[in-house]
Amino acid sequence: MAIIGGGVGGVGAAAKLKAAGIETFTLFEQSDGPGGTWRDNHYPGAGCDIPSHLYSFRFNPNPDWSRVFGGQPEILSYVERTVDDFGLRPHCRFGTGISSCRWVESSASWTLRTTAGEELEFDVVISALGQLNVPFYPDLPGMSEFSGPMFHTARWEHEHDLRGKRVAMIGTGSTAGQVVPAIAPDVAQLYVFQREPNWVLPKPDREFSERERRRFARLPVLASLTRLRVFTLGETMAWGAKPSSRVSKRVTDICLEHLEKQVEDPEVRAALTPSFPFFCKRPMLSSDYLPTFNRDNVELVPRAVTGFSRSGVIAADGIEREVDVVILGTGFQPWRFLSTLSVTGREGVDLHEYWDSKGGAEAFLGIAVPGFPNFYMLYGPNTNSATTSLIYVTEQQAAYALRMIRRMIREGLESIDVKRRPTDRYNAWVQRKIRDTAWVGGCHNYYSAKSGKVVTNWPATSVRYALMTRLGAATSRFTTHAVKREPAATATAPS
Ligand code: NAP
Repeated sequence: MAIIGGGVGGVGAAAKLKAAGIETFTLFEQSDGPGGTWRDNHYPGAGCDIPSHLYSFRFNPNPDWSRVFGGQPEILSYVERTVDDFGLRPHCRFGTGISSCRWVESSASWTLRTTAGEELEFDVVISALGQLNVPFYPDLPGMSEFSGPMFHTARWEHEHDLRGKRVAMIGTGSTAGQVVPAIAPDVAQLYVFQREPNWVLPKPDREFSERERRRFARLPVLASLTRLRVFTLGETMAWGAKPSSRVSKRVTDICLEHLEKQVEDPEVRAALTPSFPFFCKRPMLSSDYLPTFNRDNVELVPRAVTGFSRSGVIAADGIEREVDVVILGTGFQPWRFLSTLSVTGREGVDLHEYWDSKGGAEAFLGIAVPGFPNFYMLYGPNTNSATTSLIYVTEQQAAYALRMIRRMIREGLESIDVKRRPTDRYNAWVQRKIRDTAWVGGCHNYYSAKSGKVVTNWPATSVRYALMTRLGAATSRFTTHAVKREPAATATAPS
């Protein structure tokens, strides 16, 4: 078995395989260590806006989180520790990217090609590439002419000292929400270019006291209750995806109050007030982003960036603002699933072409695609949620894959391929649910493929997703085609 990607999804899947007694797997990770997004994103202020007791593996709770919302270094070391706790290092090939996977019918196996050109054969592939892994660089006039440092938040260049510099921050998503307050006290001048404002909820962050941490360690049930409380709150929030819901109205009021309290200048406040429903784009959780605009050295430029000169940034108002450094907080390309991987399934079908023919990525439960047997995706199409932990979601998906692998072992199967009809029905249901959400039109967001089809988000609660993945696995006899291994072959665990 091959796992592609050593972020929280891949590490979680590897730990689950190991705990199930399956040893025949290799985890490929292009970086030199595990962590995925938490290894790539080390910008100032980087952290998680999902509380840490929920942003943890269910099978590896951490009573020792230092605060309610963990910072990047702490989350990265937690993922690294999980790798060691579960003895995963011997299974990991760090510094090895996978560029393609090709299904070979005659051997019922996948041929994987590494970025170094090596070819390897596996029965089962679990893709754990994530959605927010490929940075989005805008293509704007004059970009290459800018003479100072310009870098993306996910590729932060720490060698540039920002102290006393004039800095442009482009973008006002969740990442900018963390970078802006972290660098504002150090820089001489900060221009924050905002194409469209975002709803900002207060972030009730604080340190856990020594006593609390000791109690979490002594009484694991306390940590579980904390997790449950946060999880339940997230489930309630999920109802807010419908603009007409009471939840949407309530959270909008909370955001407006938060803005009123935190920003002094009424003009700036007006520029920071969104005109679209709460969940239209992923909201920000922050208690220190908005007050940054009260600082004398910070200016909100409520305009899109349209270009660059040698020494500055040009916004849609036509004004050039001179800066020394440009930071691109312009996000990722989540709508382009598996964009760094070429996947060729049965009868030579290319996965990306197949998805294009469907108007954008889709899969059964966001996990399996017809014609691509023994291939499972974690954090695949329509499985993103702004209200729960991605770790929770990918654990459900890894559990689905594990159940399929166990079925292969138990029944001596060489392949399991999800059927087209249940996949089409499932995706029609997902898209019907999405029609009622705030994600469709109304603002810029990163949820849709070119065709306008929303491909990233899950349109219900995460409990519903968990139940559906379990049901999907339990009824796989009806939703999949399974092929028995030839009797001559030995019924060993798939490799
Ligand atoms: P993002 O939400 O996609 O934001 C990109 C920003 O760039 C948007 O504000 C966008 O404007 C802006 N932009 C793009 N082109 C522009 C231009 N020409 N001029 C001005 N602005 C421009 O990216 P992100 O902030 O990196 O966040 C991505 C996702 O990562 C989040 O939604 C979240 O899921 C995840 N994340 C999570 C955490 C966490 O704590 N869990 C932290 C950070 C990020 P528009 O708003 O108009 O599109």
